[in-house]
Amino acid sequence: MKNRWSQESLAQWSQNRGFAPDNDLSLRIYSSRLLGQEAELVLHGGGNTSVKSVHTNLFGVQVPALYIKASGQNLATIDVDGLTGVDLNGLATLQGLTTLDTDDMVNALRCHQFDSLAPTPSIETLLHVFLPSKYIDHSHADALLTLSNQKGGADLVAQVLGESVIVLPYIHPGFELAKAAANAYAAQPTAIGMVLMKHGLITWGETAQQAYDRHIDLVNRVERFLSRPISSTAGHSATIDVDSARNRYRQLAPILRGALACPNGNRDLPHKRFFLRSLINPETVALLANEANKNWLLTSPLTSDHLIRTKPLGVWIASTERIPEAIADYRRAYAEYFNRHAQTGQKSHDSTPRVIFIAGVGVICAGESGAEAERVRDITRQTLAVKQTIAAMGTYEGLTESEQFAMEYFSLQQAKIDRSQQLLLAGSITLITGAAGAIGSGLCRVILEQGGHVAASDLAGEPLNTLVGELNRAFPDRILAVAMDVGDPDQVAEGVAQVVENWGGIDTVVLNAGLAHVSSLEEMKIASFNRLQRVNVEGTLNVLSQTAQLLKRQGTGGDIVLISTKNVFAPGANFGAYSATKAAAHQLARIASLELAPSDIRVNMVAPDAVFSEGERKSGLWAEVGPDRMKARGLDEAGLEAYYQNRNLLKSAVTARHVANAVLYFITRQSPTTGATLPVDGGLPDATPR
Ligand code: ZN
Repeated sequence: MKNRWSQESLAQWSQNRGFAPDNDLSLRIYSSRLLGQEAELVLHGGGNTSVKSVHTNLFGVQVPALYIKASGQNLATIDVDGLTGVDLNGLATLQGLTTLDTDDMVNALRCHQFDSLAPTPSIETLLHVFLPSKYIDHSHADALLTLSNQKGGADLVAQVLGESVIVLPYIHPGFELAKAAANAYAAQPTAIGMVLMKHGLITWGETAQQAYDRHIDLVNRVERFLSRPISSTAGHSATIDVDSARNRYRQLAPILRGALACPNGNRDLPHKRFFLRSLINPETVALLANEANKNWLLTSPLTSDHLIRTKPLGVWIASTERIPEAIADYRRAYAEYFNRHAQTGQKSHDSTPRVIFIAGVGVICAGESGAEAERVRDITRQTLAVKQTIAAMGTYEGLTESEQFAMEYFSLQQAKIDRSQQLLLAGSITLITGAAGAIGSGLCRVILEQGGHVAASDLAGEPLNTLVGELNRAFPDRILAVAMDVGDPDQVAEGVAQVVENWGGIDTVVLNAGLAHVSSLEEMKIASFNRLQRVNVEGTLNVLSQTAQLLKRQGTGGDIVLISTKNVFAPGANFGAYSATKAAAHQLARIASLELAPSDIRVNMVAPDAVFSEGERKSGLWAEVGPDRMKARGLDEAGLEAYYQNRNLLKSAVTARHVANAVLYFITRQSPTTGATLPVDGGLPDATPR
């Protein structure tokens, strides 16, 4: 591992940010970020760092302070606001206690913050308080875990790192660990660092550079030791066909996603759903080809910090035929594990596995959001590499079951998981066609605002890319661009597969792609009619039928909404191709509502009138009819909008957001309704469905 410290880059960095080069916080941020750059040291909010400095209080008096990484902050991107300042002397008195339970510890940490609104300090704050050095760096270095998580690991660590490093057996993070570390340090004050067995590495120093140099140096010593040839027992099968493994995954992902979904107690939206990310490469496919590897693949996480995301154990599925049974077996085993350790009244987390090994396919990782599934995958990738090295050297030895339980149900760890589940559409995946248009972009935005993940589909090109770029800034990791032409069934199949590949499946479909055309029937060119027929009818059918198959394979119901039009009920002269093809699409959706109801898939229609724009985006309808109608009626743009507004009962201007709200009504299942049409037109008596 490279030592990345550089005086020049530090000087440059401090100057850019207006810090003196010897500022404690500036140095703390600089070296924290150096540690954060190494995936082999920390992943996704793992590890923590601190500096002991001073805080100037309201009387202008400087009091001793500890600035420590706040819980869940990422070392790679941490800034000053990611460090929480706490009263060092106040917290140091806690060392006099013999026991301190978690709730009291959290309360004490919060009561000693200098800024009551600062984020909660790391769960390992007391460890940093009780150790006396100015700078402390703590990581979950892979190299150290390779030694510490095997039989005879403590001897190996001592052999490789020598006497200047303390070796501490596994102790549950929090007060107990902090006390034990402080006592061990007191007994060996010349030590430069400490290995926490089955947990990670701590180094300290009087300067930021000293603590960092020691950290990198110790990791390098272990890496040199590990780089000696070790015989691989994992075994590579002769032929590894990654492409067919990927194809198999595309087929089975919806079935797996359906099996992973679990009841959430909501009668109308009864499933808590998961997102999937796959790890399918020659190494994983080869590992899974050898069933003997199951012994070490199904072992506890490398460090307790990972457990909250990966669950204590993964699940092994020997045959793709057995997915639902294997998941059900896992749930039973999880319930038994919970009952073995839970205290009376304690509530179980969901029993859904997060790491799924499927022979002949690969490793599939699950999470409560797309980003969380990705975090689980990153952790799993690192974990497999470390465990493979251990398997080649000796025998894996991780946390005991009760240590795992204590960590999985540690309230402070649970707080790290972002549960924005309160939002109506959290956990759901929506495919929207025609997303780059006026109504489509409004739909995307409203569904994202409600916590949904959106696969935004439209023709490949600048409008789609711009929209997704824009929305990705506002709703990171929850929007995906799917370029496809709905009129081409192969492109639709590829588009649906792309969503499956990224997130595992689809729950909701909004059929919004459509074209308009102005022509009298007398002058209608059949080619123009067919152009609309291809998108408005065949496009609707392609997406409807392919997504219905997917929803059925998932087996967790689903919602489909067609953006219809008031023209279906009240057609307009010179608008024959549009009115007729939209009427056909409308009828297809009604039939789908009949066919799909037994699978709890609801199909409804929203019929708007004259939505011409959403922000800067003009609709296709506008491009087709706007200029023409303005001319015919002698109106300007605002005048035409006013004309449409004035023709409805409520004198309302219909917006894309109004249409999206109607869609939201259906997909959040506010009523048990299918096959229904909701007009969004300000009240047009001749267009009222009947
Ligand atoms: Zn840790």
